[in-house]
Amino acid sequence: MNNVFCKHHPDNQIIFIIWNSTTLKLACDECMGTNLIEGNAQEEKWKKLAIRKALKEPDYFLSQFKLNQKNKVIMLALEKYPHVQLLEVVDKIEQQIKQIQIILDKIVDQLKEEATNIRNNKEALRKQFENITHYSQLKELIEGLNNSYQKITYDIFNQVEANLEKIFIDLEKDSTCLNQEIEKYSAKSIIIYCTS
Ligand SMILES: [Zn+2]
Repeated sequence: MNNVFCKHHPDNQIIFIIWNSTTLKLACDECMGTNLIEGNAQEEKWKKLAIRKALKEPDYFLSQFKLNQKNKVIMLALEKYPHVQLLEVVDKIEQQIKQIQIILDKIVDQLKEEATNIRNNKEALRKQFENITHYSQLKELIEGLNNSYQKITYDIFNQVEANLEKIFIDLEKDSTCLNQEIEKYSAKSIIIYCTS
């Protein structure tokens, strides 16, 4: 309606349609403030339609008239939740999800760090256990066999076997000092708190 001007105010564009049950007028801003309308309004109230809005939203035009209940509900549904408002809600949710993501990333980082700590502590404890007498004896005997450049003689083989036998049988009989050593080396380890 950009080129349609008011017949009463030729400088002004037509913006509204006003009407009642008997008559209709195209009106400008200025018309709305004059007694042009007020004169007629004594008989019956005018209704007003903004033309630009009506051209964009048919439901705005349709809602001006008596609608049955079912159709009223349809028009209300169209009116509810304007797109801009919905975008704001989606935006807020997106921001919150990003915040949650940051928190979750931090938790994952902490868990990874924790897993690394546990592995390091285990490795440290195993390293300590290498000092346990019976274990270092076992290791020494096996390594002695492995590192031998000369062919293992029957005698050496028997000797190692006998030594190993002594270690294992001794431990089967009495593991008190083994347990004491385990306790000694693990006393400072964090690992033992994880298992309790
Ligand atoms: Zn006018």
